[in-house]
Amino acid sequence: MRQTKFIFVTGGVISSLGKGLSSASIGALLEARGLRVSFLKLDPYLNVDPGTMNPLQHGEVYVTDDGAETDLDLGHYERFTHARLTRENNLTSGRVYETVIQREREGDYLGATVQVIPHVTDTIKEHIVSVGKNPETDVQIVEVGGTVGDIESLPFLEAIRQLKADLGRQNTLYIHVALVPYIPSAKELKTKPVQHSVKELRSIGIAPDILLCRTDRFLPRSVKAKIALFCDVEEEAVITAKDVDTVYELPVTLHNEGLDDAIVQRLNIWTGQPNLDRWEHVVSTIKNPEDRLRIAMVGKYTDLTESYKSLNEALTHAGIAHEVAVDIEYVDSDKLEGSALETLSTVDGILVPHGFGSRGAEGKIQAIQYAREHEIPYFGICYGLQCAVVEIARNVAGMAGANSTEIDPKTPYPVIDLMPGQLGRAGTGGTMRLGAYPCRVVPDTLAARAYGRTEVSERHRHRYEVNPTFRKRIEEAGLVVSGMSPDGTLAEIIEFPDHPWFLACQFHPEFHSTPFDPHPLFRAFVGAAVRHHKGA
Ligand code: GLN
Repeated sequence: MRQTKFIFVTGGVISSLGKGLSSASIGALLEARGLRVSFLKLDPYLNVDPGTMNPLQHGEVYVTDDGAETDLDLGHYERFTHARLTRENNLTSGRVYETVIQREREGDYLGATVQVIPHVTDTIKEHIVSVGKNPETDVQIVEVGGTVGDIESLPFLEAIRQLKADLGRQNTLYIHVALVPYIPSAKELKTKPVQHSVKELRSIGIAPDILLCRTDRFLPRSVKAKIALFCDVEEEAVITAKDVDTVYELPVTLHNEGLDDAIVQRLNIWTGQPNLDRWEHVVSTIKNPEDRLRIAMVGKYTDLTESYKSLNEALTHAGIAHEVAVDIEYVDSDKLEGSALETLSTVDGILVPHGFGSRGAEGKIQAIQYAREHEIPYFGICYGLQCAVVEIARNVAGMAGANSTEIDPKTPYPVIDLMPGQLGRAGTGGTMRLGAYPCRVVPDTLAARAYGRTEVSERHRHRYEVNPTFRKRIEEAGLVVSGMSPDGTLAEIIEFPDHPWFLACQFHPEFHSTPFDPHPLFRAFVGAAVRHHKGA
């Protein structure tokens, strides 16, 4: 029987070394060699899923087609490869313990004392092996979150250690990502941290096959030789993962360092050299844009880069399609006055992204009014649709005090509200409309022109909906509902035709965008921003 090969990726020294992007790049390189890859992210925290975690701390919650709320690394995996991921591709300690405790309560352990080893580790192994059983997968890449030496990642590391014996050494490969810092005062690259990190890994029984060394410069041969000697890996298996200007440069950089050669050799996979033309094209377009655009992103978080990861990437992808660079200006919706308003007056497009709760809502609504009245291209996503409907209801349809009941439960015009089936379920977690749902696009609209088709499927993560009771009145004032759920009850896309480009969607198109295939709505928005920029 054909056996899936497993690559285990761990990290050491410090967190934020780009393990997720490294894993995604490994996938991209193997795919470019004709192999089919899939991913599994193991997260050591005790939340059952990251849906309830603060995005400021944890970054964006990435939603899959099957409606799982997952770690943002799954976004990197899907953007870098053709892998389509589900709930099964992200496993947290919380979920592992949930399973173990449930089994214990059901008496599955037949009176045994339930322990981390073997019960927790067996549950982890079962999951890894079952995900890897997919006949569509040649190589299963398994990334262990956290840093080697953390107490909480130990059961995961023990599980992947045991898998070498279970699956056979020819089917398993261990890649360790570690930091090799340059110390300016000594003018030297320091190898001690990586040595310590590998020592830590060895102490729990894992001997890495390949080391990915994060540095700000290429490692000279002498440094590689030293790392190879002290860490007991071959010299060609010491790979420099130098900082890159754009994340899409990583696959090419790692290929030039011989990473994919080292992998296929050690896993004994026969493939030809990868074709990386499309990656090179993407990188050169990003690095040599014909022009630069400025898009204002109006949100409540001050540090929006990680919380809106997929969105930022989708804007970059759309920029590639138009050969422009998109610079994002974050505007805090809590402070929408003075300089913030000045920013809005000079940008080429305004975007209001997803959001929860009432804080900052008035600022977002004000920004949308500004975009509408000053004919600046506007793109609203999820909350950005809901705020746009409120704005048009108030300021065009004359419904003073209109609001979403999430923001003002006592509004005279609840134009955005929970749907009857959802009432009483508004808590945290578990009550949202999550994952892919079909949407019918109305012909002859901005949306239909962007998509070039009328049946689409997009990912959702929200509770509130456009209230059908008020829809007609707002439509009479000029709003067009250009996308609907197939039964016609839920508004999925809205537009305001009396404007150069004003469109908002209830779903998250950013989760379907890749550098090679930018999402049609982002592409159309950036196209409108280009026209605005040129004064056309
Ligand atoms: N808070 C809004 C809702 O729950 C919007 C959610 C979002 O933007 N993802 O419907």
